[in-house]
Amino acid sequence: MPELLRTASLPLLAGLVLAFFVAWTLAGLAFGFALERFVHKPVFALPLAAGQLRFEAIGNLVFLAVTTVTVTAALRFQVVRLGPASLARDLGTFVAMLVTFQIFYWFLHRAMHARSLVWIHRWHHRSHVTSPLTGQSVSFGEACLWMLGYVGLPILLSRIAPLGFYGWAGYLAFNVLGNVAGHANAEPTLAAGGTRVASLFANPFVYHSLHHARWTGHYGFQAAWMDWLMGTEFPDWQRAFERVRTGKPLKSLKERC
Ligand SMILES: [Zn+2]
Ligand SMILES: [Zn+2]
Repeated sequence: MPELLRTASLPLLAGLVLAFFVAWTLAGLAFGFALERFVHKPVFALPLAAGQLRFEAIGNLVFLAVTTVTVTAALRFQVVRLGPASLARDLGTFVAMLVTFQIFYWFLHRAMHARSLVWIHRWHHRSHVTSPLTGQSVSFGEACLWMLGYVGLPILLSRIAPLGFYGWAGYLAFNVLGNVAGHANAEPTLAAGGTRVASLFANPFVYHSLHHARWTGHYGFQAAWMDWLMGTEFPDWQRAFERVRTGKPLKSLKERC
């Protein structure tokens, strides 16, 4: 861990953590809204709900507050075992987080769609057509569950081998940026990115948009391989992608392709 963070007072540490997550959130918002504005390929040709951006902004504040408190506490109490910085350690940490977060998130997300737990997840699904603000628009309870991925996973992984601080921080930045920008109601993915193989590394934007419209599939995060393995894909997602990519947006949430 950098010396500055190790020796910082608690308020300074919290301020630095807050600045980190706010900065990456703002970068994601700027990128996501730019995609909506300049790509001209909306996934859904439908308006946002009345007051949507406002309640989404509130959700983001909740998420950022929970994240700041949790990550600050994790650093303060040094609950994640960190080793000396090295390219191999940081790269290994990034890849380990990339893979395990997707497994963790599929199971968490699937569980939150169970009848008994869906109340935790309803806030996120108030957004039927998504915006860049949708990504972090979650309830307090859901924000706390996300922390199992941001901090709980690294605690567990660091029991196997000491993690690299920059690999962990780098993954969190990537996660926030992708989650925020990835909720844009736009499809910037090129044709080559919509193939079966490419989707296992990164799914096109349409993929998660369909989850918000239809609810009962596509529980994964960032890539399609968990849904592919678990059999929770919508059979027409590639046709929907092709349609949106060629400039013909979906006209209703219920539409099948
Ligand atoms: Zn969901
Ligand atoms: Zn979402």
